[in-house]
Amino acid sequence: MNTDIYTVEEIAPGTFRLDECGRDNCYLLCGEERALLIDCSLGAGDLLRAVRRLTDLPLTVAVTHTHGDHAGGGYQFGTIHVPRAETHDSFRGQNLRVFRRMLLSNRMKRQGITKKNIRGSIRKTAWLPIDDGAVFDLGGRTVRAVSVPAHTIGGTVFLDETNRLAFLGDTACPVLPMHTYRALPLSAWEAQGDRLLALTDGYALWCGHGDGRLDRALIEKQLGWVREILAAHPANEAERKAVFYPAFDPAGCVGFRPANLYETDKRKGWVKETWNSILHG
Ligand SMILES: [Zn+2]
Ligand SMILES: [Zn+2]
Repeated sequence: MNTDIYTVEEIAPGTFRLDECGRDNCYLLCGEERALLIDCSLGAGDLLRAVRRLTDLPLTVAVTHTHGDHAGGGYQFGTIHVPRAETHDSFRGQNLRVFRRMLLSNRMKRQGITKKNIRGSIRKTAWLPIDDGAVFDLGGRTVRAVSVPAHTIGGTVFLDETNRLAFLGDTACPVLPMHTYRALPLSAWEAQGDRLLALTDGYALWCGHGDGRLDRALIEKQLGWVREILAAHPANEAERKAVFYPAFDPAGCVGFRPANLYETDKRKGWVKETWNSILHG
């Protein structure tokens, strides 16, 4: 396996952004006693070795949500922590090789990363639940997990309270990815927008795509755009294709599907059923 596909950037002391060919980011936080890897990419290269080049501390892996480009590399670690609301088997399904292979970007292909790089069976990876408010104590550094169901139902933001760093995954990104598979309705993101801004006030923001950097002002702008979209579309529409508002722009826009703007009774029923099976087995 090509081991050198992760580009490493030290974004703060003992804090690294691992960039998987410009496709997605995960973050390694080193404390005095433990290290925490937030997200684990598609796992198209030897992520474990890339992490081990940076630290030999005991390692915990936790993901912001279970999309394949954030949890897919989990097979390299044996056990990962995932938000409780996404521990249902149907969320594991989206990490099957076939789906992770679909997430390969053209940029990765240009760098010689092919379907063969996407390996490892999800079946061998144990998923342990993360509850809202869980604290990861790394020794001299604590990281709190806060549930923010905005991008996906279990979406979790990790707050390094010691260093005022917030890791958002896809909860907010320059191209807000509300058009992706099993993203929540756009109105769910709107409902969390002000809370997300309040929660991360005073924090440097790091996200799951692009160069990782995210400006609060862009989230405020996106919240305005989302409100304009919802005002212009008072109900779900038939169109299932992704739309970018106000236009596609890697520096800032909102991706959504007109068919997935508001909760439907069908989805509510599914959510209830899934929760029951998570809580009662
Ligand atoms: Zn996602
Ligand atoms: Zn993503």
